[in-house]
Amino acid sequence: MNEYDVIICGGGPSGATTAFYAAKAGMKVLVIDKSKFPRDKACGGLLTARLFDELPELEKYIKPIIECPSRDVNLYSPSMKYKIDFEFPEGTPWNITREVFDNAVLEAARDVGAEILTETRVRDFEFNGGVTVQTSNGDFKGKMVIGATGPNDKLATMVREKRNIKPWNDNQMGTALMWEPVVGKEFVDKTFSDSRSLLVHFKPGGIEGYGWVFPKKEILNIGFGGYNRTIKSVKIKEIWEDYINLLKEDGYFPKDQKTPPVKGAPLPLDGPLKATTMDYTLLIGDSAGMVSPLSGEGIYYGMHAGKLAIKTIKAALETGDYSQKHLDQYHRDWNEVFGKELRDLSFFALMALKLPERMVYYGTRDEKLCEIFADLFLGVTPGGLGKRKPITRAIFDAIRYPYFGLG
Ligand SMILES: Cc1cc2nc3c(=O)[nH]c(=O)nc-3n(C[C@H](O)[C@H](O)[C@H](O)COP(=O)(O)OP(=O)(O)OC[C@H]3O[C@@H](n4cnc5c(N)ncnc54)[C@H](O)[C@@H]3O)c2cc1C
Repeated sequence: MNEYDVIICGGGPSGATTAFYAAKAGMKVLVIDKSKFPRDKACGGLLTARLFDELPELEKYIKPIIECPSRDVNLYSPSMKYKIDFEFPEGTPWNITREVFDNAVLEAARDVGAEILTETRVRDFEFNGGVTVQTSNGDFKGKMVIGATGPNDKLATMVREKRNIKPWNDNQMGTALMWEPVVGKEFVDKTFSDSRSLLVHFKPGGIEGYGWVFPKKEILNIGFGGYNRTIKSVKIKEIWEDYINLLKEDGYFPKDQKTPPVKGAPLPLDGPLKATTMDYTLLIGDSAGMVSPLSGEGIYYGMHAGKLAIKTIKAALETGDYSQKHLDQYHRDWNEVFGKELRDLSFFALMALKLPERMVYYGTRDEKLCEIFADLFLGVTPGGLGKRKPITRAIFDAIRYPYFGLG
């Protein structure tokens, strides 16, 4: 049987990026994905600007397929009484469609030498001084394996069992739902201007989460999401209908168009797993919980982790040491780069999603908090938040600007 240096299960942005950097480093790489590409994926399709700061090698593949940048964001409080209108000072977020974007990253990996096997479902693993990946198209042998198939990753379940981590529950998992109706360039130009202003509504239909409209060239990406603890108790279709009607009333959706259908996907919202390795194995992206608990942004974290993993994979291949202890270098590496950020976001999400009326109110009073908010949501400052402390700032504002409302 042909042996690969590394077999990557899942060809989404996290898996494809890992494959890209691994193949570029001269490794023999196989990516296995169950879908036929190009394939769509439920997503807002918003990329933070820092992606290109961290992954410049991918820029030439991704830049040409970007739909448009967005230059500002309007964040509404649940009552719509308060609104933050924030213009991004430097890096703008980029709008993409996942069908095109994911295919481009996977093709980038192929371009530098990764083998790609699509329409092939990963079923199980056998560890035998390496790993045999059992799939719907036969068995494949690798020296190492990467779990990047998303929130229900089988390798992640094995890591949890080995390392004593409980499965996510409804307080830790979320669901996000969306659709991309075509409304025409004229409507998007007129309503969202050349700035392609992003629109965020906190707590739509009482859900602990937010609704969004991310305008692309001629389509609108509309969606909402939140923690399962509240999403599971609501009637999705009704909330969706209400949200579209709200957008219609405010002129953000064509009045003569019918309510589009809606589709959704799970989203881990508890921050990254406490362990992302076991012998021969690394977890990357959604499978490792690398998603912002505040905004649901996961593309950047998964892709960046994919790049960071290469150092550890290379060291394992060179030394022949595939033990969990040795592979834990990867866990330390991504933790050092964005682990603290995700932990801070967890805490800030608690405040912002529980008390959104108040947080938007503070944002309207305090320009600095407003900047922090925009950064936490959209990662617009290269290098992250730096020394700015969101929690301290929010507490400071609570004292400076007394708020007597609800929520
Ligand atoms: C509605 C919604 C909106 C979102 N909006 C944004 C946003 O605007 N910006 C952002 O940054 N993030 C957003 N996210 C999060 C983002 O979609 C994820 O963080 C991102 O897709 C993670 O990439 P990944 O490669 O880890 O996993 P995925 O993109 O889920 O890729 C996993 C791949 O594994 C394959 N696979 C699954 N099971 C198997 C199997 N058994 N065998 C073989 N292959 C398999 C799948 O076909 C898929 O291609 C959103 C999520 C949702 C649900």
